[in-house]
Amino acid sequence: MKLTFLGTGTSTGVPYITCNCETCQSKDPKDRRLRCSSLLEVDGKNILLDCGPDFRQQALNVGLQKVDAVLLTHKHMDHVLGLDDLRPYGNVRIYSNKETIDAIHKVFSYCFNNDYKGIPQLETHVITQEPFEIDGITITPILIWHYKLPAFGYRIKDFAYITDYKSIDEDQLEKLKGLDVLVMDALRWEEHFSHASIDEAIAISKRLNPKRTYFIHMSHSAGLHEKTQKLLPPNIYLAYDGLSIEI
Ligand SMILES: [Zn+2]
Ligand SMILES: [Zn+2]
Ligand SMILES: [Zn+2]
Repeated sequence: MKLTFLGTGTSTGVPYITCNCETCQSKDPKDRRLRCSSLLEVDGKNILLDCGPDFRQQALNVGLQKVDAVLLTHKHMDHVLGLDDLRPYGNVRIYSNKETIDAIHKVFSYCFNNDYKGIPQLETHVITQEPFEIDGITITPILIWHYKLPAFGYRIKDFAYITDYKSIDEDQLEKLKGLDVLVMDALRWEEHFSHASIDEAIAISKRLNPKRTYFIHMSHSAGLHEKTQKLLPPNIYLAYDGLSIEI
């Protein structure tokens, strides 16, 4: 499998509009973070993990030629508002929990029950916590809590993608044992009501003990990539836009 981080920033992206802090003013490309999304290439299929408002630019950045399916983590706009830009890819299957799929049908109501030719062909599927298959690839949803909003992380083989969470129940943590690569939300150093801080994410990573952990969904308050990376334990990395890893 190959994972490409298309975007690694929080909902505002980095730089934050109007901000003059050292991270937002940095010239290091690793400090420029589009909204969170990743591309997983597995068994000849291209599976998108979320599809936020920067999707068009992200697709152009990597020359994305096909999208087979999208796994949505939750309904927040920084994770779904690129769905209209799936038009070039024909029929695309979209998977998430009921709350998210219901929101998609409201926000993108013009895409459903409409024979207009210029709309994206979104084929929505409501999933539960039960593992399911996309073209023979088994996907295991992981229930996570984004403050009070139930969201989904996803495990595929020995890889898991967990964004936008504050807490994860014990029975769900059990599903994250024995990972090669764990990707997880680590918003910033200070605590936040609906996201894990860097220290909280380090604690979960140490407990689950995957071979490698990559942090995503960082805000400008996570600091400069170069400085913050040096403060992390071995085998924990700050992801950055455009990074590709083999799993
Ligand atoms: Zn988010
Ligand atoms: Zn800033
Ligand atoms: Zn969110």
